[in-house]
Amino acid sequence: MPIYEYYCGTCNTIYQFLIRGSRKAEDLQCPKCGKGDLERVMSQFSTSSSKSRSDDEMAADMADVDENDPRSMARAVRRMADEMGEDLGPELEHALGRLEAGEDPEKIEQELEEMGFGEEDGPGGTGAPSPGRDPGLY
Ligand SMILES: [Zn+2]
Repeated sequence: MPIYEYYCGTCNTIYQFLIRGSRKAEDLQCPKCGKGDLERVMSQFSTSSSKSRSDDEMAADMADVDENDPRSMARAVRRMADEMGEDLGPELEHALGRLEAGEDPEKIEQELEEMGFGEEDGPGGTGAPSPGRDPGLY
């Protein structure tokens, strides 16, 4: 069954639509606010990247990473940021540079956390809230 996911910017929510019969994707409206111009969601990751890669390839990249090798981890972070079209920012660039220089990852991680780059969403965190996901099918 063809199920497509569309994102409504007004509601900041992803809705799933069942497309069948004469129903066309262009005719879809947000079930909550009625907005017509919904954005097709291709995957959970950013679609802005010009390179299209499968999830399998991403997984293969990660399998390749040696968690005990700081240089390997730094390389993986850079690669993922590059694929998602994200800018790491000067602090993280600096931290990765130190990882690659062979510094103690735990020490670097601790310093990053003090600057607000912890694993959890702390102050100065990720910025825009990620969209919600409506469990219904429309
Ligand atoms: Zn809406």
